[in-house]
Amino acid sequence: MSTAHIQQADNVIMQTYNRYPVVFEKGSECTLWDSNGKMYKDFLAGIAVCNLGHANPVIAQKMSQQAVNLVHVSNLFYTVPQIKLCQKLVDSSFADRVFLCNSGAEANEAAIKLARKYYYDLGNTKRNVIITARQSFHGRTYATMSATGQDKIKKGFQPLVPGFKTVPFNDIDALLDEIDDTVCAIMLEPIQGEGGVCCPSENYLSQVRQICDHHNILLIFDEIQTGMGRTGKLFAYEHFDVIPDIMTLAKALANGLPMGAMLSTEKFASAFGPGAHASTFGGTPLVASAALCVLEYMEDNQIIAHCQRMGQYFTKKLMTLKEKHSCIMEVRGYGLMIGMPLSIKGAPIVNKCLNKGFVINCIQDNIIRFVPPLIVQENEIDALVDCLDTVFQEVS
Ligand SMILES: *Cc1c(COP(=O)(O)O)cnc(C)c1O
Repeated sequence: MSTAHIQQADNVIMQTYNRYPVVFEKGSECTLWDSNGKMYKDFLAGIAVCNLGHANPVIAQKMSQQAVNLVHVSNLFYTVPQIKLCQKLVDSSFADRVFLCNSGAEANEAAIKLARKYYYDLGNTKRNVIITARQSFHGRTYATMSATGQDKIKKGFQPLVPGFKTVPFNDIDALLDEIDDTVCAIMLEPIQGEGGVCCPSENYLSQVRQICDHHNILLIFDEIQTGMGRTGKLFAYEHFDVIPDIMTLAKALANGLPMGAMLSTEKFASAFGPGAHASTFGGTPLVASAALCVLEYMEDNQIIAHCQRMGQYFTKKLMTLKEKHSCIMEVRGYGLMIGMPLSIKGAPIVNKCLNKGFVINCIQDNIIRFVPPLIVQENEIDALVDCLDTVFQEVS
């Protein structure tokens, strides 16, 4: 059955993904089932999206109530789920105001527009350059692709949106070299996700904050992957005691429904007046009620504390595995955002794990990334680590 579906897909779907030959049909917590009834443990969670597990019944219940009540009205009107969600996001973060949209790229677009508009409103139209980091990932739209620090993502799409410069991550001197009075913002992932779970070196982010303060430059944190509890704090900036001026969220925000958010302090938010920016679907009651439910569920079930415990447990087990297998070069990350660079290619490892019923992921050719649902249990981690042990034996 799945072979026919896969053949059909390859005829009609744009070939923008190299898909694995698996058709998923059902999910619950950290488990997925394919169309042949085979079971998998999911350590990818839709790439850090389904933080509260697949088809979470509490969220499904909220969504289905909302779906029969009110799905969508224009943002020309108020709706209660959107108001409550924005209140909760403001109460849980540094921010004063929230703009809701539908994806990570859109959230970053909004952040880029806000930073430039802030200086435009001050009459400083030359101040429009945004500095980002090499190996960063900010999205696939024109502006966010232009902001992204990876050539392979931009190849073939020139001309790009002007006004972006990249510097090596964790290099303060290189950053200082690019600072002048044309720079309006520095945009960073506090921990680089697609770049390979690259962590900031000590004091890097606080030094960046100091540079921003000194030169009146906005600091934008792209927390699309690191946010919503993934790293063992609700937002990764809390690990580093560095408060950004703007933060973007998406991925896990509504546990799998499409939602993005751009949050900012009042000082900068005031640059977005009526008509400055918009989104038809942004913060629609259906999705907003799901996102609100996500935040409530995390509190009610102490998900962040669980994520911290599981992150520590998982990291320790992987460190033990590293002792045994010399191809594992490092185990790094925060909470349940873990990267494991290998001295060998990662693709065969991912394929073997998939055959054995475990979904993991490889980025940048040789870095295994684990971003399981935050509700993952010790026995599930044990099972994956046993599987990895076998797989590394097979390839050595
Ligand atoms: C996934 C991701 C994005 C892009 O989000 P989309 O919803 O795919 O547009 C941007 N930034 C980071 C850090 C991401 O991980």
